[in-house]
Amino acid sequence: MEFENDTNYLDQHFLIDKHIINKFVDEANIGTDDVVVEIGPGKGQITDTIARRCGHLTCIEIDRELEHFISVLQHKYDNIDVIYGNALNVYIPPCDKIISALPYSITEPFIEKLLKCEFKECMLIVGKRFADGVINKELNKLSLLTNCFFETTRIMDITPDAFDPAPRVMSSMIRIVPINRNSLKNNFKMYVFREMFFHRDKKLKNNLMEALIAFAKEHNQKLTKKESKAVIDSYEIDKDTLNKLMENLSNEEYELIYNKLK
Ligand code: SAM
Repeated sequence: MEFENDTNYLDQHFLIDKHIINKFVDEANIGTDDVVVEIGPGKGQITDTIARRCGHLTCIEIDRELEHFISVLQHKYDNIDVIYGNALNVYIPPCDKIISALPYSITEPFIEKLLKCEFKECMLIVGKRFADGVINKELNKLSLLTNCFFETTRIMDITPDAFDPAPRVMSSMIRIVPINRNSLKNNFKMYVFREMFFHRDKKLKNNLMEALIAFAKEHNQKLTKKESKAVIDSYEIDKDTLNKLMENLSNEEYELIYNKLK
């Protein structure tokens, strides 16, 4: 593997500001019966506070070199278990809360991973740029994806000096809560995008056709494939874009499609 014996790519910026650590865990409102998953416990600064408050904690950590720190906590508390592996690939067990300060470079695949997880709420520390995009409802792929599936609240912004080593960018603490499809019933554009995000391996034209049919069905109306195609024709999206797989669309194309939908 390209990064073997090199953990720099893991982007380890450990939270050291006790005030921020406490705020992060306080905002998760952890109850004594809560089942919590922490992804990337690192040296365990957040883990210690979570374990003290929750019913059970599963940690998922990719870096075996940090094993010592988690072992110390496992001796201190009897409610922690650990999975060593890549959180993007391992099964995340159903839980009440997910808590994580993951490398910002994997924000997008991590949000995609969350779509397949069962949880009530998730507290994250993310790059401020990402938080701004989601809160301001920007029309790029990552913001649209997040807003189609989650209600996001910014708790606070965090300056680089809260971490060691300090990252180059500002961070934000956010809470995301899953929303169900029904709550988008009256939001045509977001409903259609949400449907399409489930099938990113399909061509846009087919994906859009199915999504329009699903939206009509949600409103007890019938839209045939032919009618759906006619609606898509009326959007005047160029053929090249319509023939692209959803996952290969650029941010500009996401914005264009969003603006064309009516
Ligand atoms: N939670 C600690 C804190 O706030 O101080 C550590 C945060 S550090 C930014 C990111 C942590 O996530 C590191 O412990 C790193 O090894 C771990 N990590 C990075 N990529 C991961 C992945 N794909 N799966 C699981 N853990 C990962």
